[in-house]
Amino acid sequence: MSVYLDNAATTKPCEEAVDAAVKMMRENYGNPSSLHRAGLDAQLVMDKSRKVIADSIGADSSCLYFTSGATESNNLALRGIAGAYGKRKKKIVISAVEHASVDETASALETQGFEVVRVSPRDDGRMYAADFVNACDENTCLLSMMLVNNETGYILPVKDTFAAVKRRFPDIVTHCDCVQGYMKLPVKVTAMNADIISISAHKIHGIKGVGAIYIKKGVRVTPVITGGKQEKGIRSGTESTPLIAAFGAAAEKLLPTISERYKTAEGLKSYLLDKLKDVEGVSVNSPEDGSPYVINISAEGRRSEIMLHFLESKGVYVSSGSACSKGQQSGVLGEFGITGKRADSALRVSITAETTQQELDAFVEALKEGYEKVRG
Ligand code: PMP
Repeated sequence: MSVYLDNAATTKPCEEAVDAAVKMMRENYGNPSSLHRAGLDAQLVMDKSRKVIADSIGADSSCLYFTSGATESNNLALRGIAGAYGKRKKKIVISAVEHASVDETASALETQGFEVVRVSPRDDGRMYAADFVNACDENTCLLSMMLVNNETGYILPVKDTFAAVKRRFPDIVTHCDCVQGYMKLPVKVTAMNADIISISAHKIHGIKGVGAIYIKKGVRVTPVITGGKQEKGIRSGTESTPLIAAFGAAAEKLLPTISERYKTAEGLKSYLLDKLKDVEGVSVNSPEDGSPYVINISAEGRRSEIMLHFLESKGVYVSSGSACSKGQQSGVLGEFGITGKRADSALRVSITAETTQQELDAFVEALKEGYEKVRG
């Protein structure tokens, strides 16, 4: 038996998603750009997914474009805005705890002459709208800020920040990487004051290799991938209709239960934290009011990777920090004040509402054993 507690890295595709993808491959394999019936049939399924996903974020379908995933959506947001507005406005403001797909892209733009300002959490580990407003100015084209941090579960004050920034600088384009929040917290583009958002299917029980970007009407984005002008030219390349059908099916399934699942996840998080109180050497790195789906802890003096492989030998899968950084320590924990040995021993446990108490028990038992047996 394996206990999968790495849902922030990826989730198991739900049956509905798998069925939808298989059905497309078996029965509806036309190219949605083709003008004949087979093309139209594929187009209809894609339209349905687009509508379901757009509705789920309170957006019009015409503003939602499919991509290969959130890495591409984030690249398109940053490079696309830099391309469209960067001649006159050369400054980009991001949070200092962004996923690499935003952070590295901002660094790449830095080498092209953009000034990038990274806003850090304060000493209390929290971020403040005022700090972002102060970082912005008339020369700023883009503010990019994630909704939920993928390493600690910290929920950033996106709504307040975007509202405050828009009040002072109405022309700054606001982008939110909603990957770890979508289908867990309500994500509504208007309420958030977001001009652009990025989401990914495989974090919501869809399939890897598809995501979406919402771009508000009137916001100009220079395409990163050019070609046959699919997705209204915003993202050329034949759409992956099986993955898109699966994305829609997963979103449709999860949407009605966001708050119910959140409560369940909260219960599971407090169950786990309670259990961990009795475990020697364990400290919690996630904020109390963070997303209940991501719980970051440290087992003092036990290096993440060694502990991770010990847990794996017991059938328990977790992640060290962020799965995307693959062994490379990211600076994000340090930004939250978690440094040195504590950062070296950080483990990320990420759950779903379907995670069971027994699974969390199995993790805690394995962790206890690992703490005794693992050295270094
Ligand atoms: N942003 C965040 C916050 C993420 O957690 C991830 C996935 N680890 C991504 C972006 C990238 O998403 P994708 O895997 O769809 O490229």
